[in-house]
Amino acid sequence: MPENVVIAGTGPAGLTAAIYTARANLKPVVIEGMQPGGQLTTTTDIENFPGFPEGIDGTSLVMKMREQAERFGARFQRGEITGLDLLSSSSRVILEDAAPVETLTLIIATGASAKYMGIESEQKLMGRGVSGCATCDGALYREVPVAVVGGGDTAMEEALFLTRFASSVSVIHRRGEFRASRIMSERVKQHPKIRIFWNSVVEEVLDVSRNEVTGLRLKNVKTGGIENVTVNAVFIAIGHEPNTKAFRGKLAMNEQGYLVADRTRTQVPGIFAAGDVQDPTYRQAITAAGSGCMAALEAERYLGGLEH
Ligand code: NDP
Repeated sequence: MPENVVIAGTGPAGLTAAIYTARANLKPVVIEGMQPGGQLTTTTDIENFPGFPEGIDGTSLVMKMREQAERFGARFQRGEITGLDLLSSSSRVILEDAAPVETLTLIIATGASAKYMGIESEQKLMGRGVSGCATCDGALYREVPVAVVGGGDTAMEEALFLTRFASSVSVIHRRGEFRASRIMSERVKQHPKIRIFWNSVVEEVLDVSRNEVTGLRLKNVKTGGIENVTVNAVFIAIGHEPNTKAFRGKLAMNEQGYLVADRTRTQVPGIFAAGDVQDPTYRQAITAAGSGCMAALEAERYLGGLEH
């Protein structure tokens, strides 16, 4: 017998879908991948999720959501999704180390992963001054210098946002011109609090044995020159990658690999997408949770339609 609902992903989108479908007595199976809790577990305090005036740390927030889903009967299963078979009136989720799961509806909430530079010190100081999200963590760094790495619209937006809190913002870009739209680039170039390091890459995130970010060692790729800048935080804004590899060729995606969904419905009846996996624009915990709720209601409606 196929399951009613399988939910792929345990970030705010997947867990909200789990709460709603479990509460509707659909007994969802939630597949938890390599990063349980998703991107929220890589941030520190979340101050903009409504209902937590004191703020809450990301891991606690997703743990609470999970508890809530379990309370209504959601079942959790560890597994890495490697593929998807579309059957005539159901789909089969292929897992790496476990038997495939057949389901009448599937809610894909596998999220997106922030790209990182891939240097060791960056990994070590993650959550201790290295962040992938200025909207999440920017307000924690008031009246101190910070940096943004990247030259796209996200980097521009983050740099401008950070000027509200930080004493200064260094933008570090590997080329001599920004990729971002002209209007955003101009705003950054003209902002009195922003200094731009062109043609520069981060060689090392420095912590001077304090185990939190104290600066960056930059290398100018044109001249080979090395320069240290003092910052208390560095925001990596070099793009995101939606986690959709397993669905390639089966579900419609845009050119960056984000699932294409209309009110969470993909082009395949019974398959829904929620959260960052279908949203390159907002990427917030609250919007992910909102779309998880929408996907759950759509799945419930779809299953109701099958019964009649
Ligand atoms: P982008 O892919 O547009 O930009 C990524 C930036 O990071 C580029 O400048 C790139 O450099 C740089 N980069 C990539 N890899 C590395 C690396 N390993 N080391 C150092 N630098 C690196 O991603 P965004 O997240 O900025 O934007 C994604 C999409 O969302 C875009 O289409 C953007 O326009 C859109 N967006 C729109 C907004 C708006 O309109 N308000 C706001 C935010 C995003 P290089 O330029 O050399 O390739």
